[in-house]
Amino acid sequence: MRNLSKRLTSLFLCFWCSWGSSAPSPVEVPPRIVIVIDDIGQSLEYGRAAIELPGPLTFAFLPYTPHATVLSQLAEATGKDVILHAPMANIAGIPIGKGGLYPHQSESELKNELKKSLDSLPLVLGLNNHMGSLLTQNEQSMRWVMEVAAERDLFFLDSRTTPNSVAFRMAQKQGIPSLTRDIFLDHEITYEFVDQQFSKAIELAQEKGHAIIIGHPYPVTIDYLATALPRLDELGIQLVAASAFLQQQSDIKALQEWSSDVSLQTEAEPAQALSSTVTH
Ligand SMILES: [Zn+2]
Repeated sequence: MRNLSKRLTSLFLCFWCSWGSSAPSPVEVPPRIVIVIDDIGQSLEYGRAAIELPGPLTFAFLPYTPHATVLSQLAEATGKDVILHAPMANIAGIPIGKGGLYPHQSESELKNELKKSLDSLPLVLGLNNHMGSLLTQNEQSMRWVMEVAAERDLFFLDSRTTPNSVAFRMAQKQGIPSLTRDIFLDHEITYEFVDQQFSKAIELAQEKGHAIIIGHPYPVTIDYLATALPRLDELGIQLVAASAFLQQQSDIKALQEWSSDVSLQTEAEPAQALSSTVTH
């Protein structure tokens, strides 16, 4: 995970601000959203416009697409996360292009195909599924995908193109840092729809602490986000890249465990003091 200290700063600040002279209070973290833009690599113009959006967004690249290399370099250079958008078989049988993963592939066929796609995008920090309503239901194929993710130290985002996906569960089972999509931003490509979905994501983040959003490099989505992202501060929402979000989750867990250990020790001390008074 790159640039760890930078990403931890705001989280630790939050924690230490709440640290008084007495017992620690629970970790305080603002509501956060992760925005992933899928299907990057086909269009130079729209890919570039999406990458130029302000803030730490995450970009999912289709392997072997004409502009994947140059756009992934641009994304990385501007502080965005680069992930592989791994094409996976879907129920409708829609062609998924080069680098496709299918249920009929043997372990070595599937793993080799995935590794070649990853090799074509050396800046990737993780991967998610492009389509995949068929393959993400297949436990064996998903196990092999997660084994490659573990070997390459990558995180996994389940795009959840079917409610029957086992991908997130398989990733968790194998200890892969993983996420699951909450909101699709633009499966209807209109301003009104994108606005409605973005508002839902904000509400979700305010309710449960975070929301994982997936969108596409459509002009309407890019225009919408160009206006909406600068307003997140006013709403008290923090935009974080997928890798930073996962690191934060892991840090929060560690801090909460530590905080509860300290609380237990603080509670135990008076009893020890009383006990020593009586004895001596
Ligand atoms: Zn896709």
